[in-house]
Amino acid sequence: KSLTRAARAICYATASEADAARHGETEPDRRAAADRAALLTPIAKAFSTDIGCEVASLGIQVHGGMGFIEETGAAQYYRDARILPIYEGTNGIQAIDLITRKLPLSGGHLVKKMISEYETLARRIKGVERLEIGRMGQRLASTVVALTEATDWMVEAIEHTPNLALAGATPYLRLFALTAGGHYLAKGAMQALEQGGPHAMESVGLARFFAENISVAGPGLAAMVMSGGQSVIGALPELTPA
Ligand SMILES: Cc1cc2nc3c(=O)[nH]c(=O)nc-3n(C[C@H](O)[C@H](O)[C@H](O)COP(=O)(O)OP(=O)(O)OC[C@H]3O[C@@H](n4cnc5c(N)ncnc54)[C@H](O)[C@@H]3O)c2cc1C
Repeated sequence: KSLTRAARAICYATASEADAARHGETEPDRRAAADRAALLTPIAKAFSTDIGCEVASLGIQVHGGMGFIEETGAAQYYRDARILPIYEGTNGIQAIDLITRKLPLSGGHLVKKMISEYETLARRIKGVERLEIGRMGQRLASTVVALTEATDWMVEAIEHTPNLALAGATPYLRLFALTAGGHYLAKGAMQALEQGGPHAMESVGLARFFAENISVAGPGLAAMVMSGGQSVIGALPELTPA
């Protein structure tokens, strides 16, 4: 549920920017929103469709052997979901689009601004002393640090060692998605905590679960981005960068 909700939140954020790109009040507002929508689009497409497969696979697993055979209907969801990372742009190509065409938008300021929004919220949550949120702030903050380091590395690598950059594109997109997804879930959870209401604790629980069990993979993904590429390329000596 937390994966699905994070993916949906990223899609809503992308759609909201696409709306603002059309209906924003001023031309600079519209242009900035169009750039944000452009940056988020490959993340929305690739993350949602990848985790669609993961969630459909979990759906089979929770039913055990019954999940694998046809009677539950779970296997049909998995088969149907499996095409999504392939069509409308394979997710590998979405990741390449993210690093080669979207990171350089607005001279790189756009991505930095977005990451600084993630950082501000993570820092605020770190300072909140509520038992229900557990280590959400700390985990989100570590993921933001990982994304910041990987982004700085990626911006340099695209220019100087493009093959290494391409090799790190897919884990970079996942890292970005986990950071963004954790951010949106946490933002919703903090609003729910302030406002109360019947679903507040569910929002907090899902955001906390995501931060402590899913986006906590961020530092490992950053290591893949920044130091895993050479061994990806090493498998194909003709692609070894100069
Ligand atoms: C059921 C179904 C419905 C479809 N419907 C439509 C439709 O309605 N309209 C339409 O236009 N198309 C449609 N398609 C086509 C779909 O868009 C393509 O299958 C998709 O874009 C992938 O292209 P491909 O199959 O040629 O894979 P390839 O481009 O051969 O890719 C194979 C693998 O190599 C990777 N790859 C490719 N190029 C690179 C590169 N430069 N660097 C690194 N990795 C790379 C890919 O990520 C992928 O993992 C459909 C396909 C299917 C299966």
